[in-house]
Amino acid sequence: MLSTTDFQNDKDLSNLRVDLHSHTNCSDGALTPQELIERAVNFQIDVLAITDHDTVSGLDSAKQTILDKNIPLTLIDGIEISTEWQGFEIHIVGLNIDPNNEALLSLIEQQQQRRETRAITMGEKLTKCGFPDIYQQAKALAGAGSITRAHFARVLLQQGAVSKMQAAFDKYIGKGNRAYVKPNWCSIEEAVAIIHAAGGVAVMAHPIRYDLSTKWLRRLIVHFKAVAGDGLEVVLPQMNDAQRKLMLSFCLEYELHASMGSDFHQPSRWSDLGRNLRMPEHAKPIWQIW
Ligand code: AMP
Ligand code: MN
Ligand code: MN
Ligand code: MN
Repeated sequence: MLSTTDFQNDKDLSNLRVDLHSHTNCSDGALTPQELIERAVNFQIDVLAITDHDTVSGLDSAKQTILDKNIPLTLIDGIEISTEWQGFEIHIVGLNIDPNNEALLSLIEQQQQRRETRAITMGEKLTKCGFPDIYQQAKALAGAGSITRAHFARVLLQQGAVSKMQAAFDKYIGKGNRAYVKPNWCSIEEAVAIIHAAGGVAVMAHPIRYDLSTKWLRRLIVHFKAVAGDGLEVVLPQMNDAQRKLMLSFCLEYELHASMGSDFHQPSRWSDLGRNLRMPEHAKPIWQIW
């Protein structure tokens, strides 16, 4: 963790603006790490975690920007690891990790290989749907970063094949649709173990977004706890009160810590860095254990 202030000693971040989930163009975010840091400053964020999909490649330049410009922002080294559980794609966020840890770097290499293989197959399927060369275009958009379905969705949007990103998922690349490719991600257990080996804490990202019934969500959380997961994201910008209450009750019942983040990808009208993020009173914040 890179810090320009000294508050982390008592680990009380409750009076600070904290955002523990964000993306750069090292995965499917729109901003460079430098631009993200500058945006965080403009939004008066005190503590920011960068959590790109299966990569830590944005962290160094983000740190450099903070140092060069003497910015009063604490950067938490993070990652968002894609995992597979019972046919669902579950995202596990690692916070306060050592980005140079060998086990972590080796997992990242495997996940990148899986992303590449999946992207090629997705490209083949989309070619059959009438979109030739889409792999090359998505790859060009991703550049040196992690290639994701969001890149394919953006290409489909640019080509006018869909009217919004969501439609690309609903029509083609979302689970069960024509160009969906079943991924080969690591298990939740492996992701948690490697985050721990890298000195971090493991948080289940956006539990409300997996389209699971409460019964299945409980099963997922029981499994996550059984493999030593540490926390749940209980505060997301798009959550309603009932969802937040349910996530908080899971935290209390399974002794999990609470995390919060915007999952910022790009400037938009609906959400932004740090917006509407406040730790609920009865939650045990994840930063108490990192
Ligand atoms: P991947 O990790 O390759 O499966 O890509 C998943 C990424 O696509 C997510 O992190 C989101 O940024 C984006 N995404 C997933 N589902 C949707 C959706 N329904 N609409 C827009 N973006 C989505
Ligand atoms: Mn994403
Ligand atoms: Mn995610
Ligand atoms: Mn994310």
